[in-house]
Amino acid sequence: MTSNSPATISSKLFAVAKELIPGGVNSPVRAFRNVGGEPFFVRRAKGCRIEDVDGKTYIDYIGSWGPNILGHAPTVITNIIHEVAKDGISFGIPNPFEVEMARTIRDWVPSVQKVRMCNSGTEATMSAIRLARGFTRRDKIVKFDGCYHGHSDSLLVAAGSGALTHGEPDSAGVPKDFAKHTLVLPYNDPAALEAVFAACGEQIAAIIVESYPANAGLVFPRPGFLDLLSSITKKYGALLIFDEVMTGFRLGKAGVQGLENLTPDLSCFGKVIGGGLPVGAFGGRADVMDYLAPIGPVYQAGTLSGNPLAMAAGLAQLRELEKSSGFARLDALGAYFEKGLRALLTAKGIPHRVNRVGSMFCLFFVDRDIINVSDVMQQDLALFKKFFWGCLAKGVYIAPSPYETGFLSLAHSEADLDDTLSVFAEVLAEI
Ligand SMILES: *Cc1c(COP(=O)(O)O)cnc(C)c1O
Repeated sequence: MTSNSPATISSKLFAVAKELIPGGVNSPVRAFRNVGGEPFFVRRAKGCRIEDVDGKTYIDYIGSWGPNILGHAPTVITNIIHEVAKDGISFGIPNPFEVEMARTIRDWVPSVQKVRMCNSGTEATMSAIRLARGFTRRDKIVKFDGCYHGHSDSLLVAAGSGALTHGEPDSAGVPKDFAKHTLVLPYNDPAALEAVFAACGEQIAAIIVESYPANAGLVFPRPGFLDLLSSITKKYGALLIFDEVMTGFRLGKAGVQGLENLTPDLSCFGKVIGGGLPVGAFGGRADVMDYLAPIGPVYQAGTLSGNPLAMAAGLAQLRELEKSSGFARLDALGAYFEKGLRALLTAKGIPHRVNRVGSMFCLFFVDRDIINVSDVMQQDLALFKKFFWGCLAKGVYIAPSPYETGFLSLAHSEADLDDTLSVFAEVLAEI
């Protein structure tokens, strides 16, 4: 099953792309492998709609995988990019936007006393891990099965067979010697966490966790789990790193840590903070952050880090969210969509779970509660594939994978959500 008949411009472009780019894409999830088919190519996007190169339009529930919280090409961002670019695109010399961005992050996120900008979420988590290791002078890190933190070596590690086994590389090209320092635990499992710290807590530099895991479905912490991460790291002198690359500046001014009232030692950001341009950031306790070069021994750098276009675009996005009471509006839209989705699936008698927080949602075709990634894996994949292609044909673009979280933006209206729910109903009636 593919979206493209051989005659479409998309299919011709993809044929050429496959000759030139591995798999035809510059990031694997774009290849539609989880739904079996070929991606379409985008010509333009505005608001909540995407138009492909063949002229078909879709209501979009991905928003560039998170950054586009105002919708596509919002005027406040396109205007500022034009304006700022006239005065220069990159200097490699400090510019005032960097200071303004740092001040904004610090004002919005109470745990952040100092912050360093970089160019992607991957850089942010990679650098936070190095910093935690340098600061604690320890090598081991703890991560959770199903949490994605970008593609750096230490973090591309999957679970071993038991809680205390060392991680195995999740990708060819990651030396076992790197992976062995990464301990992978099941999420939402306090006993496994306590066992690991009891066994080797003094060697653990940090726990890194997706504040709400949202890269293998959308999974919520059980009551007390995040508090345990906080207390156990304190007890053993390790650091707690919150990866808020997806949730930061999407679920409120202070992300999940604001919702859950937690104070991680370090936090990682990306996506929304760049307004659609390539940006990442990591920040936290000043005494830890001051371990970074040029004043500390932990090296971290970037030719384009803090560049004026990305800083200005990100700031424009944050200001607009604040000005328009965007987070409250997004939460209302999310609640409206969730209610409609649940009612629809219940009426059709289809086993499901809908996990949602603010403007992030995930529909699971599954008949069990979602506690961790093993529940996510129980989904009805055949049903998801049919659902995905049915929606695409009718002009609704959801993630081409059952393991991804969907996003609403301020450009979605209740009418758009109603149209989408009607499409869902038609598609479910046909399969
Ligand atoms: C997207 C994401 C990353 C990686 O960010 P990139 O900008 O793609 O490198 C890291 N952590 C989380 C939680 C993410 O969602």
